[in-house]
Amino acid sequence: MFTREEIIEILTDESDDNLSLLCSDAHRIRVENRGESIFLRALIEFSNRCQKNCLYCGLRSSNIDTSRYILSEDQIIACAVKSYNIGYGSIVLQSGERRDREFISFVTKVIKEIKRFSDNKLGITLSCGEQNEETYREWFEAGAHRYLLRFETSKEENYYRLHPKDRFHSYSDRINAIKTLKKIGYMTGSGFMYNLPNERVEDIADNLLFLKELNVDMVGMGPYIPHHETPLYEERNLVRLKEKSDIMKLALKSIAILRHLMPHINIASTTALQVIDNQGREKALASGANVLMPNLTPDTLRENYSIYDNKPGVKEDSELISLPFPIAYNEWGDTI
Ligand code: SF4
Repeated sequence: MFTREEIIEILTDESDDNLSLLCSDAHRIRVENRGESIFLRALIEFSNRCQKNCLYCGLRSSNIDTSRYILSEDQIIACAVKSYNIGYGSIVLQSGERRDREFISFVTKVIKEIKRFSDNKLGITLSCGEQNEETYREWFEAGAHRYLLRFETSKEENYYRLHPKDRFHSYSDRINAIKTLKKIGYMTGSGFMYNLPNERVEDIADNLLFLKELNVDMVGMGPYIPHHETPLYEERNLVRLKEKSDIMKLALKSIAILRHLMPHINIASTTALQVIDNQGREKALASGANVLMPNLTPDTLRENYSIYDNKPGVKEDSELISLPFPIAYNEWGDTI
């Protein structure tokens, strides 16, 4: 268990030898606590419509250059059937945020149908943003058992650098939503972005410790990658690390530190790492991460789910996974 001071020291340490030691130690901890295998979550980005206006995200409602879509129930089920047949034991239904009744009922119906056709064998994770407790309960009772809701940054003042101050964006609502998910019984995932404009090393240390404080079950962390149709793009030169190799080192340090802090959780090797290093996915899995999220969104729509520029996986074949680790097929891979 690292202290805040020790985490800051690691994050600022420039020794490659120390980084290798940290990562191999984290890998050992991962194998001891979660086993050798990598767990898979097939990602289905079923809608890019969003009522929010996060300052960094290409799907923000003010971006009129993105063509909006929502998959039909049949299209989502076809993706889920494909996941099931390949042997991905678990899927993630991800969308922009909507709180209208039509959307909520649609998601409930889809969850129930996936549970029905798979005879409850396919695990369902949702990533559909902030909702009220009633909605979270409705989806939980329909059969979803995991939920991803990143806090993005643990400090209130930093939150409002990434989000406008309006009725859709509230730091306290965000944090309370994560706590509500845990209370209901979801396996709850969260996470944050690093290398944001004006970010300090201390902020990253605090984000890592906040994950520990929230006692989440899963974590996805990724580097900030600018999207040209967003307000934060103007501040893209204010990031601390400019070189991709330095950002990758920060990514590996963050994963490895977190594995030391939380040995039993699931940590994702996020898609964004592929943008900064074409071996990023593998390096993360060798440094404490144990979850991969192959994208099963229909090829023709993937480029419309563009949260940041140059998102990978837009053309990759999601069925072709080749890793230097065993893969756990047909398993949910829940946190112990
Ligand atoms: S980060 Fe999520 S909630 Fe914010 S604009 Fe993008 S899709 Fe919507």
